[in-house]
Amino acid sequence: MGHIQLMSAALANQIAAGEVVVRPASCVKELIENSLDARARAIQVHLREGGIAEIVVIDDGQGMDEQDAALAFRRHATSKVYEPRDLVRIRTLGFRGEALASIAAVARVRLTTRAVGAETAVRVAVDGGEMGPLETVGAPVGTRIEVRDLFYNTPARLKYLRTVQTEQARSVEVVQQAALSRPDVAFSCQTEHHVLFQTPGNGDVRTVLAALYGVGEAKQLLELSAASNDYRVHGLIGRPTQARSSRGYAHLFVNGRPIRHPGIHQAVIQGYQNRLMVGKHPMYALYVEMDPSLVDVNVHPHKAEVRFSEEQDVARLVSQAVAAALDGTLLAATPVRTRQPHATTVQPLALDWRGARDGQVTPANTSPMPAPADKAVREGLTEMYRTGEPARSSGRPEPTKAQFADESATPAHHVSSGDVEPTDRDGWPADWSLRPIGQALGMYILADDGESLYIIDQHAAHERVLYEDFSRKLRERGVFAMPLLAPLELTLSPVAFARAMAVQQELADMGLTYEPFGAQQIVIRAVPDIWQGLDVERLAVDVFDDLQALKGDSVIEQMRLCVATRACKAAVKANWTLSPPEMEALCRSLVKCQDPFHCPHGRPIFVRMTNGELERAFRRIV
Ligand code: ADP
Ligand code: MG
Repeated sequence: MGHIQLMSAALANQIAAGEVVVRPASCVKELIENSLDARARAIQVHLREGGIAEIVVIDDGQGMDEQDAALAFRRHATSKVYEPRDLVRIRTLGFRGEALASIAAVARVRLTTRAVGAETAVRVAVDGGEMGPLETVGAPVGTRIEVRDLFYNTPARLKYLRTVQTEQARSVEVVQQAALSRPDVAFSCQTEHHVLFQTPGNGDVRTVLAALYGVGEAKQLLELSAASNDYRVHGLIGRPTQARSSRGYAHLFVNGRPIRHPGIHQAVIQGYQNRLMVGKHPMYALYVEMDPSLVDVNVHPHKAEVRFSEEQDVARLVSQAVAAALDGTLLAATPVRTRQPHATTVQPLALDWRGARDGQVTPANTSPMPAPADKAVREGLTEMYRTGEPARSSGRPEPTKAQFADESATPAHHVSSGDVEPTDRDGWPADWSLRPIGQALGMYILADDGESLYIIDQHAAHERVLYEDFSRKLRERGVFAMPLLAPLELTLSPVAFARAMAVQQELADMGLTYEPFGAQQIVIRAVPDIWQGLDVERLAVDVFDDLQALKGDSVIEQMRLCVATRACKAAVKANWTLSPPEMEALCRSLVKCQDPFHCPHGRPIFVRMTNGELERAFRRIV
């Protein structure tokens, strides 16, 4: 007796769906591509619970007649490829005829569509791959697809999904990429709570970027355009000052498709020469165009990757175009970040701290004001010396008058007290103490503990102290929200905005309080007290950027880390001259840390030479 049987169509579709629809975002991508292939001028995307509960995509494209609607959910039913030779020159986004069949296999789908020229629309529901009857209904020309309860019949897949915020962020990113790839099409993206963004479809990339990142940011972008024999590149790139700590602001399109290509991203960075800070990513929307035969559009439906037949050539063209765009403008105009007129910062954090001294001007800054950040840091150290506590842990910090509203406005947060609990540090004495000897090379503290000689990286040490102090305050809910005198408005990217809304409460617990204001704007009313004296706007921008990049389950934990490490900008810098009391304070706090060995970023804090090692080095013992 034979054992081989043909699987049912429903099962085959479900298995194949695993490749096409892995998460809400892939479903959103397929549906938008279909709308674009149908020549839609306007596309609306609605997401409920990040798309897990429901995705609705509405377009004003050519629609389907009754016959097509009946066929659309059948595997390999496509209006786009008819013959093998058509595959060579694929111009439409979809061509496999798999998407709708796959989506319908793992969700409850309802299609309402009216073809151009048709009097009425048809509606059909597909539930777990089973198609219901066709109904005639009234609806505008175009197509509306509702996808509910994704993966309700494939629990294994459902389990694989991340949090609602993560799934939503990915879906929004897909819409964002689509809007950038087609500035001539009007997109709107909304959740059950907010309209995240809307683009007008006027064909202008800058307008799309304004919708995504705010007018201020978009205005500053530089135009770029270049061509070689085979390739053409055009688009907009950010000034070096617009660089972000997340890659999420870099958008590359190859022949209209959003693509991730590390090689081309590197080429863009190279075009900035040395104008970008390490770890910062440029903001850009770049479009590379070429004959389709020169690029291998990876035929796997998800990998947004391509292979160029001459990658070097493309990379060179991109680097040169970026360099030329920057050279042309940087010399003429001073690249200033646009700030809201009522921005609360006293002065931007100088990038270059060389020569930074209390009350002096940093060379990187031409403003004749003392850098308040330096001052606050020094005061923190002095306080630490006086009280023997890590900076500001023993009482409410003094708000800087220019920056913070009066104390009565401070929410009554409880004041923390007490030291870091001493933890056993493997073979390290509990009463370990370091005696500073002096400062070397302007960045290291030399110290001894009676047994060894230590060379301590003063910046790393202070970062560690501040980090543990901040973390402990968070644990004990001792972080103060410092109200801002003038609330700070920030325009976030749609992804960052969605995230920001999702973690509003968690950030409020860390002292960062804000509320939504307009489509993608937030108004920040208070910041963690540890940010006192720092460039609050810059820190907030960085935190929301960090937020955007967070992935996985421990988002809250990661968020703490980023708020805390951002706060570590308050640490003493490498080239400050420290007074003996300051060094003593730092050493005293360091030995109390749970991990006095590594800075929050994991780098070592000190180098140690034991007595024995020194004796050997001096040949006192052999
Ligand atoms: P593919 O896009 O690869 O052809 P799909 O399963 O995504 O396969 O779609 C199947 C067919 O359904 C398409 O070829 C198209 O004819 C029709 N279709 C799907 N979505 C739309 C839409 N939004 N507007 C008009 N026709 C559509
Ligand atoms: Mg398709």
